[in-house]
Amino acid sequence: MVEDNFRHKGKRQQLVKTVTRKGITDKKVLEAIGKIPRHLFMDSSFEDHAYQDKAFPIAADQTISQPYTVAFQTEKLEIEKGDKVLEIGTGSGYQTAVLCELGAKVYSIERQRELYKKTKNFLSKIGYRPKYLSFGDGYKGLPEYAPFDKIIVTAGAPYVPKDLLGQLKIGGRMVIPVGTEVQTMTMFIRKSPKEFDKTEFGQFRFVPLLEDKN
Ligand code: SAH
Repeated sequence: MVEDNFRHKGKRQQLVKTVTRKGITDKKVLEAIGKIPRHLFMDSSFEDHAYQDKAFPIAADQTISQPYTVAFQTEKLEIEKGDKVLEIGTGSGYQTAVLCELGAKVYSIERQRELYKKTKNFLSKIGYRPKYLSFGDGYKGLPEYAPFDKIIVTAGAPYVPKDLLGQLKIGGRMVIPVGTEVQTMTMFIRKSPKEFDKTEFGQFRFVPLLEDKN
C-alpha cells in the first residue's frame, strides 16, 4: 500500500501545526514533516494514528520516534544542504527521510537485521536515496566514512560513545539523548580536536542504544 491521499495530507498539516505549537520553528524541518507520508513508515494497522504526535511500535520491538522529537533533534542539527550526516538507529527510516528532504548526504546504521533490510527496500521504493545504509553497531560509527558534519543518535545512549565524538568534523555537531530510564537531549559542538561545547536540553524517552548483540 503506497497510497498517500488528501486525508493523509490534511492530517499531516495538523501534525505540522501541533509540532509548531510545541516550539519547532525551522521552516525546512516543518516542510519536511508536512511532506513525508509517515503512515507508510509504519504498520498499516496504525494508519489511523500515524499523524498523532506519538511514537509507535515498528518491527523487532523498536519504535518510530515521535514527530516532535524528530523535529527537535533535526532543528538542533542545523542541517545545511550537502552536509554529511551520520544517523545511529535507522529504524523505520522516517528520520532518515527527514534528513534526505533537507538535502543531507545520509549515512545510517541499524543493528537489527530485519529492520535494516526492510527499511533499505522501503526507502528506495518511495524514492529516498540515503548515501549508505549499514547493518552494524552504532557505538562504533562509520570510521571508513568519517569525519561527519553532523551526527544524530536516535536511541537512548547510557553514555556518550567516544568513537562518535571522534568522527565529528571540527565545527561539527552531534545531538544525542543520554541516559537510561529517561534521556537528556544533549548537543556537542566540536571546537578543536580535543574540545567540545556541551549543551543540555529537555528530557525525552527513547528505546535503548544497545551494545554488541553477543
Ligand atoms: N530513527 C528511527 C528511530 C528508531 S528507534 C526512526 O525514525 O524510526 C531506535 C533504533 O535504534 C532502533 O531501530 C534500534 O534497533 C536501533 N539501535 C539500537 N541500538 C543500536 C546500535 N547499537 N547501533 C545501531 N542501531 C541501534
